[in-house]
Amino acid sequence: MNNLTEIEELIKIISKLPGLGPKSAKRIVLKLINNREELIKPMAKTLAEVYKNVSRCKICGTLKSNSIECSFSDCNFIYNKFDKICVVENISDQWSIESSNIYKGYFHILGGTISSAGQNKEDLLVSSLVERVKKDEIKEVILATSATVEGQTTAYYIQDSLKNLNIKITKLAQGLPVGGEIESLDDGTLNSAFKNRTTI
Ligand SMILES: [Zn+2]
Repeated sequence: MNNLTEIEELIKIISKLPGLGPKSAKRIVLKLINNREELIKPMAKTLAEVYKNVSRCKICGTLKSNSIECSFSDCNFIYNKFDKICVVENISDQWSIESSNIYKGYFHILGGTISSAGQNKEDLLVSSLVERVKKDEIKEVILATSATVEGQTTAYYIQDSLKNLNIKITKLAQGLPVGGEIESLDDGTLNSAFKNRTTI
């Protein structure tokens, strides 16, 4: 790339994105450079706006606009009152569960797992989960973490954090493929995993 540091830096950043390596990052950068007005300009603007205006809610973990209070979860929920919270690793997991229509209730988005690189237990919003369970008189917490070692370790840690509360804790049924991440499951698998969830 003729030692253009800006380009090298961009390739380095893009290759950190999920599913991309240096080779695909180079292709993306070339595409961007060849479409300065259509891609680079609006992308730079949008990225700056997202950086400035969007962040994770520190209570429920969902994405929210910085200018308003969180309205997606029970943080400010007025119309619906649920007695269940489904705990997921990432927002993409929540989207999969929502689109399968199997679950009606609140979500709590951890933002990762205990063993994820650089992930502190404190960052996983577990203490705010405990607070939500108490405050909203939750009767059931559904642990919908992945069937990976990290996902299961995280589930165990959450279970332990909730043990002094008088609530039902369930986890998705076996049948989740080992190593299966929630977001990659089809609706049928997700449906039966929810329907047959077991108390732990
Ligand atoms: Zn929130």
